[in-house]
Amino acid sequence: MPIKLIPLFTILAVIAGCTSTPPDTSGCRIPSNGKNVILIIIDTLRSDHLSCFGYQRNTSPTIDSLADSGTLWLNAQSQAPWTLPSHASIWTGLSVKSHGTTHIGGVEGFDLQLDPQLPSLPATLQNSGFQTSGFINFVLLSEEFGFNHGFDWYDCDGSGERTVTATVDAFLYWLDYQAETENFFCVIHLFDVHAPYNPMVPYDTAFCSEGVDGVSRWDLSENGKILNIEDCQHLIDMYDGEILYVDNELSRLFSGIRQREIADSTLIIITSDHGEEFLEHGGVGHGHALYQEQIHVPLILSGPGINRGSISNIPAALYDIMPTILSYLGVEVPENVEGLDLLSHAPAQLRQIPSGGVSPDRFFLAMMSLSDFQSCAVTEGSKKVIAYMGTDRFIQFNLDEDPEENIPLAADSTMIEKALFYWATPRRGNPSPIGELTDEINSTLRDLGYIR
Ligand SMILES: [Zn+2]
Repeated sequence: MPIKLIPLFTILAVIAGCTSTPPDTSGCRIPSNGKNVILIIIDTLRSDHLSCFGYQRNTSPTIDSLADSGTLWLNAQSQAPWTLPSHASIWTGLSVKSHGTTHIGGVEGFDLQLDPQLPSLPATLQNSGFQTSGFINFVLLSEEFGFNHGFDWYDCDGSGERTVTATVDAFLYWLDYQAETENFFCVIHLFDVHAPYNPMVPYDTAFCSEGVDGVSRWDLSENGKILNIEDCQHLIDMYDGEILYVDNELSRLFSGIRQREIADSTLIIITSDHGEEFLEHGGVGHGHALYQEQIHVPLILSGPGINRGSISNIPAALYDIMPTILSYLGVEVPENVEGLDLLSHAPAQLRQIPSGGVSPDRFFLAMMSLSDFQSCAVTEGSKKVIAYMGTDRFIQFNLDEDPEENIPLAADSTMIEKALFYWATPRRGNPSPIGELTDEINSTLRDLGYIR
């Protein structure tokens, strides 16, 4: 289906709004009789840096309020520690080994494009009559990588430099030009929290006095050695400032939804594609390991029919988002989806949740002694095994007693079997290598540490 074009005057108005007059966000919209869904993905947001997940800093008053009005999943896990495979799991409801959209072949390898033939969340809802839109802020989720399939409107700024302010503006303008009777599904992907950490004034001094006068990224030598370990706390301060900035703009987004009188018919979901390491296991950034700081993500649902002020211990995963949304909307879930409907009354308490897609050689930011190896992880209850494929190295953790994963245990045979079983998952998708990328895209990926 062709991309639907927003009228030119709308686009001009958005541009004008970014530079001079603030956008008018008070437009009224006749309430829909049905349901809408807004899926907000805050890239690189580890759950333990949100106040509602117990962080000692007040980084997230708006998100905390959303959690108070809905349900928060304490134990949500991403299916990969980096953007491309993780979003493919959100889009398809499949594990990484199943959809196969990842990077293969080490340093000289290449990324694979999301298979357009795989049933996806946006395409399923589009086929069910929903208006579908995406406001996306990174090239790995662009048309080149196949993530636009199933969207009527796909607004992707591949540079990663569009702010949450501009993204919220673009979404609210889109919202005002929707047909009043149509239900919609919208993905809002925000990239501000991703490195470099350089929050704008006044958020740069929210958690430290020196603000942007300090460094905003890790200083790495050519062989990946971290040259400024002493800056770790400052970088955490800046990371937290970015979270506060995003949180404040989400308040404006939610106000816009209330002003348009669609709050009573709109489900809002907040999550992230992966976390971020700040030297917990000797590395920085993400994409190179499967420890909790990189794969434990927030998951909050709020809207009509969602339990208010509820906290769930049910193990949740990003590939649950697709079946949960479809079931919530009364849309049939495609066959073979691996995730569960988290709102059903009988989700498994003890379920195995796999994560994979690690291709450490690719990442400049990867500081792992075992960076030559692919790895995967399986979590079941408090047990988590990390398997380094191609070796006989398996380490296990008890997440109840050792949530920071400092005490590696000998893996028990059952957990090893589960990891190997996951690794042998047959691929359902048929992802193809991406074509030649433009110099601009390659430059963006290199600047952000995705390629050397
Ligand atoms: Zn990401």
